[in-house]
Amino acid sequence: MQTFAIILAAGSGIRMGTPKAFLRLDGKPLLWYSLQAFERASSISKIIVVAQKGDMETVQNLCQSSHITKFHTVVPGGKERQDSVGEGVKAVSTSAKIICIHDSARPFITTNLIDSLIKTAEEKKAVIPAVKVNDTIKQGIENQVIKTVDRNLLWQAQTPQVFQFNLFKKAMEKAFKENFYGTDCSQVMEHAGFVVHILPGNSANLKITTPDDLILAEFLLNKQKQERIMKGDPA
Ligand code: C5P
Repeated sequence: MQTFAIILAAGSGIRMGTPKAFLRLDGKPLLWYSLQAFERASSISKIIVVAQKGDMETVQNLCQSSHITKFHTVVPGGKERQDSVGEGVKAVSTSAKIICIHDSARPFITTNLIDSLIKTAEEKKAVIPAVKVNDTIKQGIENQVIKTVDRNLLWQAQTPQVFQFNLFKKAMEKAFKENFYGTDCSQVMEHAGFVVHILPGNSANLKITTPDDLILAEFLLNKQKQERIMKGDPA
């Protein structure tokens, strides 16, 4: 069964001041961490990277020097995240059964989570990782609270988001036809009327958005390294 991963790296990184996929974490571009996880995940057959036009050669060189044997192609992204997803989808082989869409801005994705999500998608058709919200969430207008939302119903969606390819393709076609733009791929599936399941994610699978997130990521990476040394795991 063919399972394609699409790794999104075409954002301009407005809040960071530079494209996030190529920011350095322990000397390596953020994108490198996702490439490694998808290369190692046994459930993934091929990897497509979506990047800005000017970064396509850099992506190709990175995949080559990092020995990413599952690298399929790199394609140019679009204006919005969903446009970039659309460009990635065009490059997926028609024989693909499952598609797995991931933000390169989440470098802490694990092979275990990828494999579990794909196993779930084979049965349930659409699944996303998410973590429960711990804070109390308010709705507000102009610095005034208008409502407190019941946090027991709230989840923070993460990536990779995994879908049966034929269903996701249909959902994307409908979204573009209706000029509907979601902030994640799950929203596109929801808009098309598909049920999307939640698999509890990992709070360490954070998205790098601001310079402070990068500092937190460096701390987490060092902690993981220390834990591996304590366990005698050289990897
Ligand atoms: O900006 P944001 O954090 O929502 O971006 C999430 C992911 O989507 C990032 O990995 C970014 O590179 C990607 N993206 C993209 N094309 C866009 C906008 C964002 O590939 N036009």
